[in-house]
Amino acid sequence: MFELTLDALISFNKRTLVLFPNIDAGSKEMVRVMRKKGVEHHPNFRAVKHVPFDQFIQLVAHAGCMIGNSSCGVREVGAFGTPVINLGTRQIGRETGENVLHVRDADTQDKILQALHLQFGKQYPCSKIYGDGNAVPRILKFLKSIDLQEPLQKKFCFPSVKENISQDIDHILETQSALAVDLGGTNLRVAIVSMKGEIVKKYTQLNPKTYEDRIELILKMCVEVASEAVNLNCRILGVGISTGGRVNAREGVVLHSTKLIQEWSSVDLRTPISDALHLPVWVDNDGNCAALAERKFGHGKGVESFVTLITGTGIGGGIIHQNELIHGSSFCAAELGHIVVALDGPECLCGSYGCIEAYASGIALQREAKKLHDVIIAFFPSIFLVYAEDSLLVGGMSVKKEEAVTAAHLIQAAKLGNPKADNIVRTAGQALGLGVVNILHTINPSLVILSGVLASHYVNVVKEVIQQRALFSVQTVDVVVSDLTEPALLGAASMVLDYTTRRIY
Ligand SMILES: [Zn+2]
Repeated sequence: MFELTLDALISFNKRTLVLFPNIDAGSKEMVRVMRKKGVEHHPNFRAVKHVPFDQFIQLVAHAGCMIGNSSCGVREVGAFGTPVINLGTRQIGRETGENVLHVRDADTQDKILQALHLQFGKQYPCSKIYGDGNAVPRILKFLKSIDLQEPLQKKFCFPSVKENISQDIDHILETQSALAVDLGGTNLRVAIVSMKGEIVKKYTQLNPKTYEDRIELILKMCVEVASEAVNLNCRILGVGISTGGRVNAREGVVLHSTKLIQEWSSVDLRTPISDALHLPVWVDNDGNCAALAERKFGHGKGVESFVTLITGTGIGGGIIHQNELIHGSSFCAAELGHIVVALDGPECLCGSYGCIEAYASGIALQREAKKLHDVIIAFFPSIFLVYAEDSLLVGGMSVKKEEAVTAAHLIQAAKLGNPKADNIVRTAGQALGLGVVNILHTINPSLVILSGVLASHYVNVVKEVIQQRALFSVQTVDVVVSDLTEPALLGAASMVLDYTTRRIY
């Protein structure tokens, strides 16, 4: 294994220090292999033994990554927030260390190299585990719960061990949870989400319009919720953020957003939040988060390849292919709302025409509802409750003068038998259906999950369009409506919960 590790480190091409913990058969073997590989004279390598303790601490605290087997501080180094790769087998099953990835069966150079890329690149960010700032409230809470006059040994009994993966005492006493943030066009929400997908507590504020106000509010809410988590007996393992726009999930940076969220391009979210909370931070876009939520908590559980489409104000999407989320070469994969289904359709917020978002999103339906409604206002400026064939309103509904016309009014009119409204909703469903057909022909998933408030109004038309327009071989696909109420928050939480408990891969 040492030979494979050296090969991987040579091709990884970073400055490497080789530590010999003691002189035994293992280190003799290391010397033999290093001589064989010419590592002694390699400019990237230095070998040392008997490093003084304080120097050792300095070294491991500032290293980009540590790789090795179970001795030589592999478990302890993670406490400094340094990413660690354990290649040995002796530690597996014993107390799990924070920030440590265990490589199961490190039997190929590629496996080891992949682990190096993941950890060194901090694709999965590390936490400084003793620095979340909430130790004092935790200790005080514990002290309040016991009677210091009573001899502790007589009364103390261990709490029952819950269904937990980690063996850390903290994790047994508290519910392992994530701080989930959802940044939408209208609202900014922060929630505590448990390992089972339960939303323990949720806080909502209006999403501020400027970058400065928004980042300030995010930090304020996160810090408050993280300290509130102590009272709720929740151990926050990290922060997951779902946001509109294109996101470099590796760096935790929002690359570019549409007009739905202003001043939200080239924004590093990971650094300020991780610095303020001393927790690892993951960021991805709302469509990808919805797919992650379906994979962990919804219809996508155990499904190898599926696609999710969320119809809200806009239309987002996420693709899980062979169990992995697809980000694409410039983090723009799964922008399914901008699949074009007409050469000259309605204008989209992205600047193009005929995107499915321009037909089937909440904004698109609202636009059409206003068009129908405006006909009446134009002809009868002082009367609103007029039932005419080319109007939005039908018997059983009304829109007050000051009330904004929305997609919900259009849906209501269609249900009450307004043929024009019905036709618009049907056309929207057909556009979405054609988009789905294009997806089926591109990646051939076994499942399509429609989520968001409009999904249930579209699902039947989407199935019809698949029957009419898709190739025979892809018609086995299942199309279902999501049963998750909070896909963005749950997806944001799943990034945290999955990684922080997934130590072996
Ligand atoms: Zn578009």
